[in-house]
Amino acid sequence: MKVAVFSTQRYDRTFLQQANDALPRPHALTFFEAPLERETAALAAGFGAVCIFVNDHADAAVLQQLAHGGTRLLALRCTGFNNVDIDAAAAAGLRVVRVAEYSPHSVAEHAVALILALDRKIHRAYNRTRDANFALDGLMGFDLHGKTVGVIGTGKIGRVFGRIMAGFGCTVLGHDPCQSPDFIAQGGHYVALHELVARSDVISLHCPLTPDTHHVMDEALLGRIKHGALLVNTSRGGLVDTEAAIEALKTGRLGGLGIDVYEQEAGLFFRDLSSTIIPDDVIQRLTSFPNVIVTGHQAFFTREAMGTICATTMASISAFEAGLPLADEVLPP
Ligand code: NAD
Repeated sequence: MKVAVFSTQRYDRTFLQQANDALPRPHALTFFEAPLERETAALAAGFGAVCIFVNDHADAAVLQQLAHGGTRLLALRCTGFNNVDIDAAAAAGLRVVRVAEYSPHSVAEHAVALILALDRKIHRAYNRTRDANFALDGLMGFDLHGKTVGVIGTGKIGRVFGRIMAGFGCTVLGHDPCQSPDFIAQGGHYVALHELVARSDVISLHCPLTPDTHHVMDEALLGRIKHGALLVNTSRGGLVDTEAAIEALKTGRLGGLGIDVYEQEAGLFFRDLSSTIIPDDVIQRLTSFPNVIVTGHQAFFTREAMGTICATTMASISAFEAGLPLADEVLPP
């Protein structure tokens, strides 16, 4: 099958090509560095399948253009599908698959890395010692042992994250409209959202971005968090009202912020912009805080996760071509 692959970096091409070469009937992959959006959708004309990533923009106009060009399958090489208009895809006759699970450990472990780095000021110590500054002033953290950690979204990633934090000796609180018996079995306690933010020393977001969860961490909820709590977001940028988070950092109510995702990350993340002037004042303000760590959507980026993402994506395209059921199909709600 002819597959147009958008938003590709060198590592995407390597892992996708390896997964494709391992198939009994490999596909014809064409890689584009450009993201899929209205201006680039014409590139996909004549390709039966289109493969996209987190910041590609598959709205109704793009999907109609793809369908018009002969595309029948949209394969997301990621878990979240907030960037695809699923109803419009169905209306245009396009089927959509994603990678429902690859390595929940990759993302959960990255959230833990952000917490430890923020708490123990590893980013600051790294810079200091390289400049022969071995002073400890300003580097004091707190023991995670005995603290309370709130998990918003106790799905696959949230549960792995909760297990790791329980291993540190933390009390783990959870909030999710769909309660998981596994989360309770591993020692987690479900509470209302307001109670979770009021009691937690560390809050970690692991729910999907939907109209219900957009800006779930807004000015009002940030106003209820425990003074000095850490907030970590490895899920989707739109969960946090960034301007409100900046205000909470300025007052000290928010004691630290670790984000792997950012509301306006499209156009910034996955690129080397070190020689350019960044016009986004919000990200510039964020990175000016000593108690903010930003990583560029790399939580998924482990060898294990990349291998599974690419193998699953290729297997879904093969299943579609063969007319087999699609295990990871995303259907309209
Ligand atoms: P999942 O579907 O297993 O779990 C999501 C959980 O969130 C579910 O239990 C769901 O009931 C819950 N939820 C839905 N609405 C909620 C709400 N209003 N409040 C609280 N909980 C709510 O998904 P997952 O595999 O654990 O992934 C979670 C998210 O992580 C994905 O949607 C994606 O956005 C993000 N993600 C990020 C990266 C990265 O590299 N940074 C990688 C993979 C996934």
